[in-house]
Amino acid sequence: MARGQQKIQSQQKNAQKQAKTAKKNAGDHKKTAEAALHYKCSVCMIQLGDIKTYKQHFESKHPKLPLPSECLEV
Ligand SMILES: [Zn+2]
Repeated sequence: MARGQQKIQSQQKNAQKQAKTAKKNAGDHKKTAEAALHYKCSVCMIQLGDIKTYKQHFESKHPKLPLPSECLEV
């Protein structure tokens, strides 16, 4: 009955925990670099460290395709 809600609450807790951890690690460049490989090219599935790299990659490798929406925000 309350199971679904408990799950949501624990997910929210986890998200808060992760947000805190991310803040804590913000000054640690090595850890940040490892954790930052979360941009994945939607075309060739290569992983990229940051949005600028992703944009550059996309413009050079897939110039005929429209830029992904995340790149447009940069
Ligand atoms: Zn690509």
